[in-house]
Amino acid sequence: MTTVAIVGSTGSIGTQALEVTAAEPDRFDVVALGAHRSVDTLAAQARAVHPEVVAIGDADLAAELKEQVPAGVEVLAGPDGLAEIATRADVALNAVVGFAGLPVTLAALNAGKRLALANKESLIAAGPVVQPARATPGAELLPVDSEHCAIHQCLAGGAPVARIVITASGGPFRGRSRDELAAVTVDDALAHPTWSMGPKITVDSSTLMNKGLEVIEAHELFGFDYDVIDVVVHPQSIVHSMVEFTDGATIAQLSLPDMRLPIGYALAWPDRIGTPFGRIDWSELTSLEFEPPDLDAFPCLGLAYEAGRLGGAAPAWLSAANEVAVAAFLDGTIGWTAISDVVAETLDGYVGTEPDAVDVVLEADRQARERARQVVERKANA
Ligand code: MG
Repeated sequence: MTTVAIVGSTGSIGTQALEVTAAEPDRFDVVALGAHRSVDTLAAQARAVHPEVVAIGDADLAAELKEQVPAGVEVLAGPDGLAEIATRADVALNAVVGFAGLPVTLAALNAGKRLALANKESLIAAGPVVQPARATPGAELLPVDSEHCAIHQCLAGGAPVARIVITASGGPFRGRSRDELAAVTVDDALAHPTWSMGPKITVDSSTLMNKGLEVIEAHELFGFDYDVIDVVVHPQSIVHSMVEFTDGATIAQLSLPDMRLPIGYALAWPDRIGTPFGRIDWSELTSLEFEPPDLDAFPCLGLAYEAGRLGGAAPAWLSAANEVAVAAFLDGTIGWTAISDVVAETLDGYVGTEPDAVDVVLEADRQARERARQVVERKANA
């Protein structure tokens, strides 16, 4: 029996994780649940799975949560509470959205737990701080990102590796020029063709920033140089990524676009769950297409490579600026094409910093957000 903590249990990944654990009750025991603010949903989940402990990120909601959970369930509150529950199980699934997930990532690894990481931003922004924590005895990092889950599976094919090929659906705006993208709306950006996900990552998919963040994530997870990480657009989202070996042989992982597969993989590895999520019907699937990404229409991908190659705190700046820009787009302050402008102009202000401690990462994040907000303000008034 594997005990599981789900931090960010009320979001898209969290609710799908509960479907996976419910499908395999003899394998998984959910002992901890945590959410930022969705107190009613969290309480309903607690009544359904009876965890030992729950945590709510917004401490003002703790009393309300306590009233709604079954007797005997411990209630923790605040960001420290969310980080604490990540240490209370064999596996901690970090499904927090954005940079706010960093304490959860560090708590799980420093406690020597397996971290099933759906919060790529914490690894991207704080790689130099997260990497040493991976060396804690017992600590393991398994990606809950379909592409990196695919790469993890393909790497079982051995070595030496020549190239990593990360696939991208291309998002809802694939094939459009920069000019054609000037007037797209929030609803347009949230209409993803193949994946059902939360709003932040869905907007990131529309700009290809998600793919850029995944390039940095692949570098941090597997240690590959940026020169051997390629991106290819694959609209069907069936091939989730590929690894090419030095003899030219390429191994790919295929399944339907269903996040429950990478969630189950990360929770159960090195076993595999017995419930098929993402099973392909080969009489329905008739073609797989591939094309190069359009870096002019989608500059965020190039900006991510640039930040990754710069290293230091540049990925933290990229990710922070993007979070600010996406929030401003979602609330109607700036247009879609301004997202990449905000990221580019914020990165222009980056001065090399070596983020060797959490405080340095937090300060880099703060500086980048401040500059990004200034750029947003300028764009909004323009
Ligand atoms: Mg992904």
